[in-house]
Amino acid sequence: MTHDDPTPQRSSSSTLLEIRDLNLDFGTPRGRIHALRNVSLDVPAGQVLGIVGESGSGKSTLAYTVMGLLSENADVTAGSIVFEGKDLLKMPAQARRALLGDRLSMIFQNPMTALNPVRTIESQMIDIQHHEQGSRREKRARAIDMLHRVGIPDPESRIVACPHHFSGGMRQRICIAMALLVKPALLVADEPTTALDATLEVQIIHLLKELQKEIGCSVLFVSHHLGAVAELCDRVAVMYAGEVVEEGAVRDIFHNPGHPYTRALLECDPGRIKKRTRSLPTIPGEVPSLLGSKVGCIFRTRCQHAFNRCVQENPVEYRIGLDQVARCHLLDEERLVSV
Ligand code: ATP
Ligand code: SF4
Repeated sequence: MTHDDPTPQRSSSSTLLEIRDLNLDFGTPRGRIHALRNVSLDVPAGQVLGIVGESGSGKSTLAYTVMGLLSENADVTAGSIVFEGKDLLKMPAQARRALLGDRLSMIFQNPMTALNPVRTIESQMIDIQHHEQGSRREKRARAIDMLHRVGIPDPESRIVACPHHFSGGMRQRICIAMALLVKPALLVADEPTTALDATLEVQIIHLLKELQKEIGCSVLFVSHHLGAVAELCDRVAVMYAGEVVEEGAVRDIFHNPGHPYTRALLECDPGRIKKRTRSLPTIPGEVPSLLGSKVGCIFRTRCQHAFNRCVQENPVEYRIGLDQVARCHLLDEERLVSV
């Protein structure tokens, strides 16, 4: 493992989505919750970036910020989100809304967030193609073809049914069909398989992978399930308490994690635990409160390796090898020893 200079430059030539120094607070009666702190990430064109981390680490907030679907008490205090060369945060609201269901689309954890319960799948799938050329008949044919692709049996006759006639797994397939029907440049998927059983999850992940390759879109895939991330993603960003603590290619992060939090997360992954056990391990300690400003490393209260510097200074990004970065002072200490 080699550690180069801190704060490496990120590439931008084939980057579809470029998030830089993003800071977001939620206003609450208890004070401002700093839900995202200095988040910088790239989603390369045609690739899948997974976002992992414990509950409350800011994964969904990041996904919703990219989509512009935040609650009223959210306040982006700094940073940029450049998508196809334009900063989404500086775009007029109407132009930003026009991207949804066109260049940007989303799959939610609960399919009923996206589906209207009292309208037929047919009308919803035709409406979602409002940016596309073609007659209603052609759009209907495209919708049937897409339902077929995602494995809905007998789509010709079932397209006229309302969402409640389908099981949870089938509804999620319909949502995937709708999200991909518009051939987005970026698909944001927020825990799309969390509500499904393990067999359905595998099927949905394979389906997403197949369709992503076929359409050539990029995907921002939020999940707490490391196995699903390993299966689907090219790259992973690990979030902790509102910060990205490590980022890199899937194989590097899973085989050579550089950050103590990533290592702890992997050690607690049920998919990696070989011994039979009644209770699954968890990372000792709790995610810190996100209220107020923070000095030092955000993970220090749970880190077995914390030392003086971790209390005083927030670590910058250090490069590990060619294609992986992590925020941990240990990487700097090792670098100092090796030069
Ligand atoms: P999970 O896996 O449980 O969905 P997550 O990593 O997606 O967690 P977020 O849902 O993004 O985490 O939440 C990040 C932090 O922001 C949490 O502390 C959460 O309580 C807080 N938060 C999220 N939405 C709001 C809101 N509308 N108002 C106040 N606080 C919020
Ligand atoms: Fe642990 Fe310090 Fe590294 Fe933070 S900077 S992860 S506290 S060793």
